[in-house]
Amino acid sequence: MADSFDVIVIGAGPAGYPAAIRAAQNRLKVAIVDEWQNHDGSRAYGGTCLNAGCIPSKAMLESSELFHRAQSEFALHGIGVGEISLDLATMQKRRATVVKGMTNGVQLLLKSAGVTGLQGHGRLLPGKRVEFTAQDGTKKEFIGKHIVLASGSAPMELRTAPFDGRYIVDSWSAVEFEAVPRRLGVIGAGVIGLELGSVWRRLGSEVIVLEALENFLAMADAQLAREALRQFKKQGLDIRLGAKVGGASVANGAVTVKYGDKQGEQSIVVDKLVVAIGRRPYTQGLLGEGTGVELDERGFIKVDHECRTGVDGVWAVGDVVRGPMLAHKGKEEGVMVADLIAGHFSEVNYRVIPSVIYTAPEIAWVGQTEEQAKAAGRPYKMGVFPFTANGRARAMEAPVGFVKIVADSKTDEILGVHIIGAMAGELIAEAVLAMEYSASCEDLQRTIHAHPTLSEATHEAALLADKRSIDTINR
Ligand code: FAD
Ligand code: NAD
Repeated sequence: MADSFDVIVIGAGPAGYPAAIRAAQNRLKVAIVDEWQNHDGSRAYGGTCLNAGCIPSKAMLESSELFHRAQSEFALHGIGVGEISLDLATMQKRRATVVKGMTNGVQLLLKSAGVTGLQGHGRLLPGKRVEFTAQDGTKKEFIGKHIVLASGSAPMELRTAPFDGRYIVDSWSAVEFEAVPRRLGVIGAGVIGLELGSVWRRLGSEVIVLEALENFLAMADAQLAREALRQFKKQGLDIRLGAKVGGASVANGAVTVKYGDKQGEQSIVVDKLVVAIGRRPYTQGLLGEGTGVELDERGFIKVDHECRTGVDGVWAVGDVVRGPMLAHKGKEEGVMVADLIAGHFSEVNYRVIPSVIYTAPEIAWVGQTEEQAKAAGRPYKMGVFPFTANGRARAMEAPVGFVKIVADSKTDEILGVHIIGAMAGELIAEAVLAMEYSASCEDLQRTIHAHPTLSEATHEAALLADKRSIDTINR
């Protein structure tokens, strides 16, 4: 007879492992199946985010920003350190150590929660059975009262510029480059294109980013996107909008990329090309015949607002289902499902999921953009407070960007907050909490913010929405 569990989770990324841990906290018998394999062949929990995405990219963003600031900013503070040099091997070793620490941490957490870890492939069969294929090819069947599918996503490939793992690469390979490419091409000026483009630009690459759309950062507030484009151009990122890529070919150790724009046919020659045009849900080998789990037209597993697939006892969470492909969104879905399975109340508030782009300046937002508020026909007011008027930002030599608050001018409810500037990814948490509690602008105005902090810019933006700012001229 097959071994049985209350819950079997397939996928141990940021959606799957929290589901497993919370289910175990709810005193359920839990197993988690994960097939992640690193470039060196080692196995690790944590999925894309910990092994190839969020964590390694942030480690490289941190190191490269320090390198850049040491070169361009230390002298301003009166600090002389002689010639700054780059030891990429050490930087990459640190990145790998950070990743290993995090993935070992997940393994430890699963173990101490009493979750049975199974490293290998999982395939759902009818009757909530899971076929597990171990690394050595042996198969075993398990049965679960509940199954949580958390198989994540994979990078989209461009048919005319397929990945070759050496010259034309995905984001995972691009965080692990062993040498700084002299010329780096990036297809897609989305989150990955901007973050990884920034890393290699700071480390010395000449970076050209080709973006199909005419609009830069189309998903962001337009005023914020304009400021971001201005800042990135100042940093030397060569962002070419409205660029329709025809294809790429590799010859003599270089990649030629052909594209068309308003001026006609163009081409660039680069040493490496990163294709970052989005990710697709990953369900390869996940669903056996007759499970009843359905995919939508884009390949996402169909679920309702509580992540139920429609097959009793089968749930799906994270990148493999609708919604933004973000680790924190997947985590909350995983936790919600584990609580619902245990009969507790739980929900995910999809209206207040923060987005952060970890460039310098950082970019972060939550809720509606000004354009969305306008299109929805809501009467709105705004406060846009610049970091130039913030003491801490000036002391940090970071007087760039602003906090923008969009609020309903009748009810005073905060509709959206958009930040570009230092630590925007940390500052946005206050706005998320405020919106989670349905706060008004006045609530923010009456909240004491420590001085001197960057968060005072959020306070002042709320005041500015009612023309009551103290630290800037109210217009
Ligand atoms: P994944 O993390 O993809 O995990 C799925 C796991 O399931 C994998 O380990 C996979 O091997 C395993 N699996 C799949 N199928 C099977 C199967 N049949 N059997 C067994 N195991 C299986 N998001 C953020 O919020 N912040 C960031 O800063 C951020 N940075 C990113 C940077 C990069 C370069 C990339 C690529 C992504 C980034 N993301 C970021 C997105 C984030 O990584 C994803 O949203 C997140 O990993 C999704 O979690 P998940 O658990 O749904 O899937
Ligand atoms: P993305 O959707 O953010 O950006 C892709 C960009 O590529 C878009 O601007 C799109 O217009 C452009 N594009 C698409 N096809 C193109 C083509 N043929 N030629 C030129 N441009 C083209 O996707 P991404 O940057 O690949 O990131 C994938 C996912 O990973 C995102 O959903 C994101 O949420 C997640 N991620 C998040 C973070 C973060 O939270 N900081 C960081 C990295 C990745």
